[in-house]
Amino acid sequence: MHPIAIKHPIRQLKGQLCLPTVKVIAAIMMVLSVASLWSHTSYANTSTSSSGHIVYHQALSDLAEFNPAALSPTEKKDKPERVGISSAASASVNISHKQPINTVQVAIIIDDIGYNYAQGIKAMQLPGALTYAIIPHSPKATFFAQQAQQYKKEIMLHAPMSTVHNMPLGKDGLTESMGEQIFKQALADSLSSLPNIKGVNNHMGSLLTQKDKPMNWVMQSLKQRQLYFIDSRTSAQSVAWKIAQEYGIPSLKRDIFLDHEANAQFIDRQFKQLIATAQRQGYAVAIAHPHPETILYLEKNLSALAAQNITLVPASELAARFSSHQMSPKITKTVTRVTKKITAE
Ligand SMILES: [Zn+2]
Repeated sequence: MHPIAIKHPIRQLKGQLCLPTVKVIAAIMMVLSVASLWSHTSYANTSTSSSGHIVYHQALSDLAEFNPAALSPTEKKDKPERVGISSAASASVNISHKQPINTVQVAIIIDDIGYNYAQGIKAMQLPGALTYAIIPHSPKATFFAQQAQQYKKEIMLHAPMSTVHNMPLGKDGLTESMGEQIFKQALADSLSSLPNIKGVNNHMGSLLTQKDKPMNWVMQSLKQRQLYFIDSRTSAQSVAWKIAQEYGIPSLKRDIFLDHEANAQFIDRQFKQLIATAQRQGYAVAIAHPHPETILYLEKNLSALAAQNITLVPASELAARFSSHQMSPKITKTVTRVTKKITAE
């Protein structure tokens, strides 16, 4: 990917208000040109629909963190959040020009890679640009990071985060009780344990993703390393994506969990919902797991995406292109306010 990086995300802008006027004008011109590129693609954005997250490794097999009752009324109604983007909002986003601007794209992330060797291999052999989220320090983590290079697949760090049910997280799991330094060091250790990581999503995290302070620390670490973030949305109250946006990190929320019930009928229903969501929004993010049923289903049905003129792309590409499309009015307001402050200088 060769994105155009615009180097003045919100947080940086706050600290650089005394930039020479010329630089500020140049930055604004770049923002406006990006906005005009996107102005004819006005996607109606929706928040998540039915969803789930399954812990898939030997130590925690069959433990499901997902609780449908935890979905907010907003999520249950599948209510649109916002239409279109603001010019200011696009300032912090990397943009890929690989695909025509009106192409419908999806990313499918296979979570919980690193424990089950046989299923991991089968998952990685699926055709197309799937993305694999590896649990750090899991027995086969390094092996699968290397395999991904061989299969030319993108990998993410599947960062373990604390849950409302206090489930075990493994080494370098991130919790609310950690101080800033220990927290950031644990995340840094996870990131450096896997070569060629392009982004991060949360493994579990139904508690931690609700907390502002640790999510700020996560995003500060990702910003520094130019990584993207996908909010797995294991909690309807997650603030992770919103904070990622505030840092100008290319970021999206998971739209569909494909397999929180691992049977063909359920996966088929979710897969069709993925297609419908992508067609409605212009893009969609799915998360699946290396269950035998899921792999079998995807082997047979991934080609249905192309048949519907939907392109399967790595999560990095989707995040770079569609990051601002889920922007809430509140975030747009923050970005606009910062931009106004700069132009007034
Ligand atoms: Zn997971």
